[in-house]
Amino acid sequence: MNEGYIKRKVVKGAPISSGIVMGRTRVILPGDIKVAEVAVPASQLDNEIKRLDKAVAKTIEELRQIRDTAGRKMGGPVAKIFDAQLLIAGDYEFLKQVKEQIASEKRNAGFIYNSLVKKTTTPLKKSEDAYLRQMVQDIEAVANKVLANLGGSHKKPEVKFPADTILVGKSFTPGEVLAYRNRKITGFLIGEGGRNSHMALIARSLLIPMVLADRVWTRVPNDCRIIIDGTNGLVIINPNEKDWVKYQRRRRRQGPVTISRIKKLQQIPPLTSDGVAINVAANLELPGPVDDILSSKNIPVGLYRTEFLYLEREDFPDEKSQYEYYRSIAERFSKSYVILRTFDLGSDKFRNNDNSVAEDNPALGWRGIRSMLDMTDVFKTQIKAILRASVLKNLRIMLPMISDITELEKAKKLISQVMFDLRREAIPFDSQIKIGVMVEVPSAALTADQLAQKVDFISIGTNDLTQYTMSTDRNNSRVAGLYNSYHPSVLQLIKMTVDACMRNDIEVSVCGEMAGDKQALPLFIGMGVKNLSMNPTKITDICRLIRKIDSNLVYHLAVSVLSSRTAASVTRKLQSFIVALEKK
Ligand code: PEP
Ligand code: MG
Repeated sequence: MNEGYIKRKVVKGAPISSGIVMGRTRVILPGDIKVAEVAVPASQLDNEIKRLDKAVAKTIEELRQIRDTAGRKMGGPVAKIFDAQLLIAGDYEFLKQVKEQIASEKRNAGFIYNSLVKKTTTPLKKSEDAYLRQMVQDIEAVANKVLANLGGSHKKPEVKFPADTILVGKSFTPGEVLAYRNRKITGFLIGEGGRNSHMALIARSLLIPMVLADRVWTRVPNDCRIIIDGTNGLVIINPNEKDWVKYQRRRRRQGPVTISRIKKLQQIPPLTSDGVAINVAANLELPGPVDDILSSKNIPVGLYRTEFLYLEREDFPDEKSQYEYYRSIAERFSKSYVILRTFDLGSDKFRNNDNSVAEDNPALGWRGIRSMLDMTDVFKTQIKAILRASVLKNLRIMLPMISDITELEKAKKLISQVMFDLRREAIPFDSQIKIGVMVEVPSAALTADQLAQKVDFISIGTNDLTQYTMSTDRNNSRVAGLYNSYHPSVLQLIKMTVDACMRNDIEVSVCGEMAGDKQALPLFIGMGVKNLSMNPTKITDICRLIRKIDSNLVYHLAVSVLSSRTAASVTRKLQSFIVALEKK
């Protein structure tokens, strides 16, 4: 039951897909699919089985259409989500079982199909494995379509919504997100699912703002005013007029987050008012319409999250398919460069294979470079594919979650071995390829000097650096209030890393969400950071603001901010600086 908030309420959730949307809620309560049980006379059993075949065929046709459209608009990895659903829809063994039971139990197709689906999904729902939980969602998405086509489902998607509707629910399937987008849904507020779920991936590809907040579907009333800030993970339920005006202004400044807006993106030369050049790059995780726009404007990619290649598949992609993938990225960005981050997988993201281990604390466990140093075959295959694709000399390699020099040395040794093999096989590659690390754990920041001596560049991942410095799970809405990148401790670690890079004369950049945050911009420039990589939707605004900044002035601002005792005092100083700057 919905026990809605009566008064204005601010909820701090987790950001899933950025952008601000304002509108009215439509709450979709999670409901079990129930199908009535109907006895079927023996003479009608053949017809019942034919009805099932027809419903399955129609579902397959519908899924193919979605897959083809999504594939055209958003690229291969998104299409693969629907390929997985197509396999489920056409599962021969499962359908055979359904037909046998229709005949033996003399019951309607919908009832038998639904009960066998539940029998399959019930044990999977209890699994800790993120892959299996994702599979449950895919099975239920397919079942819902088959049952709708049998005329027995009561979870029919609504067809029409008023403008500016924001959907609130437990979670949505990728197909639902796509379908709702076509019905003009402008934002999503969900109660379950992480940043890496298929649902999140589609929302980000479509640039639809989405926020995750604990059990939100039970707490938000239907048809009430709401503001969603997908960039900061903030939700205001029943906002007052002051909130509304404030966010209207913010949204106007930010502009609607749409592909057409990114198309209009003009790379305003990012030079400070006193002539310091700042290199503004984009973070990408999936091929799609956005990267074509970026490459046409010669904007480099400062962070390509290659693990999404793995997350879309049954297994680790082989060398050939990785080579083709990286090669096409290198060609698309031939006039700039792309930093390919090697697989940054957490133990929770691994599939049920021999290498999976159950961990109580996956974020502190076998993730990032740690797992790759154990699964050296997987790591070397990826490195080989990247090196083979590097002949255009515009690819760079970046290692995630490095926590000390030994890990870096081990990874570099493996890279050297792959280079040796390639030379022996006379396969060309960029032997001068730049190798860098991410600094996203405090131990790496504290030993940044050692790391900087062994790499060509360092990129600061403020998302994880905040999580680990503040001991706050970045995806847990209950502790979201403690997750603050402006905490003085996080800023000190960033500063230490920047200084270490400067001392060792190597490139330093910031590629966490903070890099696209206007408030942080003068601070970073004041610290001496000249490379920022961000969500593509932020590039225009950041470039515009860079032109108003005087690098000498922000040096003094940075000194003052870094001496602050609390995050609140940091934010106050930066906010008042930005307000004055924007008026310029
Ligand atoms: C980070 O941690 O800041 C980062 C950019 O990596 P990811 O968000 O992919 O963990
Ligand atoms: Mg990270």
